[in-house]
Amino acid sequence: MILQTKQLTKRFGGLTAVNHVDFSIEKGKVNAIIGPNGAGKSTFFNLISGFHRPTSGEVLFKGVDIAKMPANKIAELGIARTFQTTNLFEQSTVLDNVMIGHRLRTKSNLLDAVFRTARHKREEKQCREKAFEMIEFVDLQKVADKEVASLTQEEKKRTAFALALATDPEIVFLDEPAAGVNPDETEGLAALMQKMVKKGITVCLIEHKMQMIMKLADKIMVLNYGEKIAEGTPEEIRNNPAVIKAYLGGSAIA
Ligand code: ADP
Ligand code: MG
Repeated sequence: MILQTKQLTKRFGGLTAVNHVDFSIEKGKVNAIIGPNGAGKSTFFNLISGFHRPTSGEVLFKGVDIAKMPANKIAELGIARTFQTTNLFEQSTVLDNVMIGHRLRTKSNLLDAVFRTARHKREEKQCREKAFEMIEFVDLQKVADKEVASLTQEEKKRTAFALALATDPEIVFLDEPAAGVNPDETEGLAALMQKMVKKGITVCLIEHKMQMIMKLADKIMVLNYGEKIAEGTPEEIRNNPAVIKAYLGGSAIA
């Protein structure tokens, strides 16, 4: 176990978006979160990555409570994420977008940049090399110098992966990585996630594409109205009556 939430809760006014959720993320595995729209999945990610403060509960990363840390500090610890709607700089190239991810982890500050110190120059070079390495990893070499605005949806998703990976994370949180891409491209993205795991990165993803999840995930948690209603292997989830009821009002999950 690399990351664990304990009784994690988030209220927005009168709405409890995440309600006392206990979940542990297994190191080196594909951990998935599923659940109907509005179930609290993205909010759960926002709590872990420091974009929202929990109302109560804990987020333990390797035993340390990170629940009150700011997002940049959490990213520095080795926790990366992508967003449900990719938030890339559309008018910049793939390479420039990915370089931003790596800069988060380098030490030059504004003064270094202004005076173009030796450290800054060295880090710029490292940053570019790292970005290229990640672009290669996600197989986007051919479009590295293209504007993000001109990419396909799938290429944008791969760019977002590369950006997350450029921070050298131990764990990545991917919010609906295959939303809006066709079945072939979905398989390509699934293969890429497996490649991340092979590289030693722990993956946690939110996804609606049930077939993909059932094939890809080692472990699944199901949220409904902010509460964890089930947790287990794909096989256990497929046959869980509460899950079937929440999803389809009674019939089996395909
Ligand atoms: P999911 O990702 O599972 O579709 P979300 O986590 O986005 O669900 O949302 C869970 C609930 O919390 C929804 O009812 C949503 O409207 C609400 N919610 C999410 N973010 C906010 C926010 N910043 N302010 C108020 N309500 C929010
Ligand atoms: Mg969501």
